[in-house]
Amino acid sequence: MMQAQTVGAAENHELNRQIESIRVLDCGQAEQHAEHRYGSRLPKLWWVFFGRQWVSLPVQCFLIAHRDGLLLFDTGIDPAIISEKRYIKQAVGRFLLPRIFRFHLTEIHRIDHVLERAGIPASDIRKAVISHLHFDHAGGIARLPQADLLVSEREWKILSSPHPEHEWILREHLEIPSAKWQQISFGPTDDPLFEEFDGIYDVAGDSSMILLPTPGHTPGSMSLLIRQEGWDPVLLVGDLTYETGLLEQDIVPGIGDKKTLLATFAKIRRLRQLLPDLTIVASHDFAAEEAISRSTKLDKNP
Ligand SMILES: [Zn+2]
Repeated sequence: MMQAQTVGAAENHELNRQIESIRVLDCGQAEQHAEHRYGSRLPKLWWVFFGRQWVSLPVQCFLIAHRDGLLLFDTGIDPAIISEKRYIKQAVGRFLLPRIFRFHLTEIHRIDHVLERAGIPASDIRKAVISHLHFDHAGGIARLPQADLLVSEREWKILSSPHPEHEWILREHLEIPSAKWQQISFGPTDDPLFEEFDGIYDVAGDSSMILLPTPGHTPGSMSLLIRQEGWDPVLLVGDLTYETGLLEQDIVPGIGDKKTLLATFAKIRRLRQLLPDLTIVASHDFAAEEAISRSTKLDKNP
């Protein structure tokens, strides 16, 4: 009898389990100016040319094993950005890039190779959420021709502006024939958890992965809230902040729209009041992997 009950409970737990794991994928490293990461009162062009303090950052994306299939949150950077002279079409971009970032990348950091090392063929990825269209987040889309690429409508609109490359959004690597782009719009919800946000998008239709508009770094940036029974909820925020602690202290980075960033920070802090165990994970934070493994440790062992 006891045994039967235990089995029943285990089965129920299995039934409720939509998400098996969240893995952090290492897509290379780079360096950026301290003023870029931690903010500065100096004008951007000053620190781009005269900043002398460089800090390391990881380029990471996230692999979520949902029962409907594998989902990526961002796709990393294409190492061709350093090996191919004309990866960036515009001369101004080619001139500025090494003054903003120093990259430490090799071929192993291309998303299909990164996945292969993790034991997963790139063709197994069903969906990829692109938090925003910067080259270090959308850089792997050419290697994922079978995946639906989810981008916010607002972010996609930037491509129709005269010079998206001024925002480091490289049209030539985004508007490619193989890419299955799917623009998403956020819909209303009566869930009080999300009342601060301008709508939500339920990725799998089971509330386990909710996309939220979190503008500031770019106008159409979005974050992914992952909830699974037995885990602490995890919020992947992309580049809204470079480190969780900075968001907590209201420290905005040296780029992006300051006012919008602060407004979004406040929304996220409010979300954390409602979900006290919420773990906030930034894409370029070295602490991401540890934070995720802490949050997703199964606590229930019947
Ligand atoms: Zn980034």
